[in-house]
Amino acid sequence: MEKLQDKLITDFREMGQRAIQVSTSALNDQLNERIETLEQVSALQTNTLGKLRESSAVAEKRVGHAVDSIEKSLSAAVPGGFKLEPSQYAGQPQIGYGHPQFQPALPPLQLARIDPEEVAEAEGKYGFCPNCTSTKIRRSNRQGLLDHVLRFFFVAPFRCKACRHKFYKF
Ligand SMILES: [Zn+2]
Repeated sequence: MEKLQDKLITDFREMGQRAIQVSTSALNDQLNERIETLEQVSALQTNTLGKLRESSAVAEKRVGHAVDSIEKSLSAAVPGGFKLEPSQYAGQPQIGYGHPQFQPALPPLQLARIDPEEVAEAEGKYGFCPNCTSTKIRRSNRQGLLDHVLRFFFVAPFRCKACRHKFYKF
């Protein structure tokens, strides 16, 4: 009788251990799968974020180039700077829109003061930036000993507005 009991008990123990092993390995498999899926998802997200960042940088560059070329062609077309004289056009009927009822509402014209430095810059008086070849160049204030010493050699500091590069020229 005792032997049978012992055998039954050991059998039960073994069964229990096997059950625990099976369920643990099943649980492990499930967890591993989930972790893999999460890893894949986060890799995808990182990838997408990287692509978004790249495309926005490209878009920014394109807009910058477009603005630059528009500015260049405008300043090339009007060498004396941009001047609007509204008195010349005031009171004259506008051509092209037909009946005044169909004229689009335009914002009032605003005159901008012309900075002589900007005109010089538009004319390309100071040449171009040796770093990025932009003509958006300004005389820079003399700072530091070097700038003041160079004054005696008629060399002045300039600053590129496009890339912030500082350089010296006669
Ligand atoms: Zn530059």
